[in-house]
Amino acid sequence: MRMYGLKNKKRYFPLIVAVLLLFQTSCATTAVHEGQAEENHWGYTGKTGPEYWHTLDPAYTAARDGKAQSPVNIITADLVPADTAEKLSFYYHTVYFKIENNGHTIEIAPSDYSNYIIIDDSKFILQQIHFHLPGEHTVDGKSFDMEAHLVHKNAEGAVAVVGILIAQGRENPALKETFGKLPKTITSEEDLMETPESFNPEDLLPAEKAMYRYDGSLTTPPCTEGVKWSVFARTIELSEAQINAFKAIYAGNSRPVQQLNDRKVYRAE
Ligand SMILES: [Zn+2]
Repeated sequence: MRMYGLKNKKRYFPLIVAVLLLFQTSCATTAVHEGQAEENHWGYTGKTGPEYWHTLDPAYTAARDGKAQSPVNIITADLVPADTAEKLSFYYHTVYFKIENNGHTIEIAPSDYSNYIIIDDSKFILQQIHFHLPGEHTVDGKSFDMEAHLVHKNAEGAVAVVGILIAQGRENPALKETFGKLPKTITSEEDLMETPESFNPEDLLPAEKAMYRYDGSLTTPPCTEGVKWSVFARTIELSEAQINAFKAIYAGNSRPVQQLNDRKVYRAE
């Protein structure tokens, strides 16, 4: 899939990023950032915390009024077997990523749009990967140390997020470089160009592909619904040092679980 070697790619990376930034500026209104960037006045504590998101902007009313919000507590006894036709397939490979502190989380965004998943016969392109501490989804009431969200979008603008629950354990080699230099303050465009890392998102995924799938929302304002969620049943590990590196910047950036209401959660193997 690689068009040229990584060494050459690194040399031309600033130019590629510059071109991409120009391109992204022109399509900023359709880009998926799960509530980042311009809207920095919401947070996770006090009067700007999750209980108040709907009061902060008329566009955020789904945070209070939505009936299909995320995250949720997944009850394993209530899981419904998914149709095998609704399989999710990953088409990931190594590309350069920009590491950004966007004021709400650490986000790593691919330098091109060549990573994607196929879900229910639709192609969803990887937009960015970001992290929450503690994890947002819970399973039978159990919470996890962190959670990674791999955010994808299809040609119609629909969003599909792959969630990976993270438990403290061994050092995660896939995130070694990135978590070794997490930007402590909100990142400028100049910083982004100076900190590219090559990385294969496939290396983040648990070996066992069983997952929980349901229809939900963005877990950050504007909490838009219609998001296809696929949360891996198996956790991945990050070391205590890696988790602490993130915690030093974002000690709590998770939305509490929301009512499931009449939704079903499917188990896909
Ligand atoms: Zn998220």
